[in-house]
Amino acid sequence: MCGGGAGIPEGQTPAAPSSLPSSTSSDFPWHLGVADAHCHPTDTMASIASIPSMKARVLTVMATRSQDQDLVASVASKHAVGSRAALQAGPAPNAADRVVPAFGWHPWFSYQLYDDGDDDDAAEKSGLTTEELKAKLYGAVLSPAPSDEFVAGLPDPVPLGRFLADTRRRVLDAGVAMIGEVGLDKTFRLPWPWGMAQGSQGSAGEEERRQGGQQASSELTPGGREGRMLSPHQVRMPHQVRVLEAQLRLAGELGVPVSVHGVQAHGVLFDVLAGLWKGYEKEVVSRRKQKLVAPGAEDFSSSDDDDYDDDDDEEGHDDGFQVSDGEGELGRPKDRPRIAAVAGRRHKSKPFPPRICLHSFSGSPQTLKQYVHPAVPAKVFFSFSSTINLSTAGGAGRFGDVLRACPDDRVLVESDLHCAGDAMDGALEDITRRVCEGKGWPLEEGVVRLRNNYVEFLFG
Ligand SMILES: [Zn+2]
Repeated sequence: MCGGGAGIPEGQTPAAPSSLPSSTSSDFPWHLGVADAHCHPTDTMASIASIPSMKARVLTVMATRSQDQDLVASVASKHAVGSRAALQAGPAPNAADRVVPAFGWHPWFSYQLYDDGDDDDAAEKSGLTTEELKAKLYGAVLSPAPSDEFVAGLPDPVPLGRFLADTRRRVLDAGVAMIGEVGLDKTFRLPWPWGMAQGSQGSAGEEERRQGGQQASSELTPGGREGRMLSPHQVRMPHQVRVLEAQLRLAGELGVPVSVHGVQAHGVLFDVLAGLWKGYEKEVVSRRKQKLVAPGAEDFSSSDDDDYDDDDDEEGHDDGFQVSDGEGELGRPKDRPRIAAVAGRRHKSKPFPPRICLHSFSGSPQTLKQYVHPAVPAKVFFSFSSTINLSTAGGAGRFGDVLRACPDDRVLVESDLHCAGDAMDGALEDITRRVCEGKGWPLEEGVVRLRNNYVEFLFG
């Protein structure tokens, strides 16, 4: 059903080698509970039926665009994880407790959202026709500026305020849920709209393929790349940032975690997050200064930095940090934090997500260390996939260094695949084995560590 492309994420340049395992081996400790921290099975809806018989314990299913929000919600309503205890109770006995939904808008589709200033009727009041609105909005956020023909082939824009309101409702309805997939991508280019000239390929063949519903297209949820060639048009970074920031703030408001995509934009991504948690940083005192405090006068220790590697001088940090405590936020804004409740838990709303997963993390060890600095008030996890992290020689070469820099309690694994079933289990087994090898963990110990990390990412 998922065909030969099952190992290649839909929408990616199909350059990945086909060395990914598509089956699992018998000596793998599935019974200890393996969590896929990031995947897209709703891109192949026919594969959803295989979820209850998968070896993976739980899948974190991402929404990315208008076409998959309802699909993710409906899959979650049938297989939702009820509670933290349910995930820690060993293998799922049936179809329940198998899916954690994530609702969000991916940077690849960010051009489709426009800021309506929280006014639902903004488009109507502007007096513009839909075509005029599309030309105005897409002309402003795409680079280079698109032709009229290109714009005509793009979907109608969606007001950002309405999308955020829908997402808030979906997360609250789902109970155990998160925000995702969101992020920034400097390399992505929009595919040519269906039916538009694509160099030597011509348009008729593509359109016929789309309309005729040939196999490759008919199995996939619409809205993705579906094998189309890429245009030169990119989404301008300030617009991507705006869409990302709005969703990060929503995660902070709801107190839920977030799954983040960052490609060739690690510096901007860190700046966006740091901008949101500015004023909430944890108080950090260097050990040198701590020695000046009379012994026993104050306890500066915190479990948060137990695994922190002190040797980050290249980032200009003072060495030997200790954290005062988890609540020691500096300069907290005076307005009282709002109280919200998700899945029966009350929490203080903040402008940033409490827990963040940087999925298929492709940054350097130095970038990683910025996020695990003890002053950072969010708990940042790093998820790895064979599909992205190990599909090129460069990625595989860097994987070991990045993994070594990653604290043991911040590692997650994922498939990032677009089809549930055996291939997804195979990809999860492969990345789990490689992470355990890289970390020097015996397999069973590693699977338990990764499961516990996932529970911590999900529930805090
Ligand atoms: Zn993804």
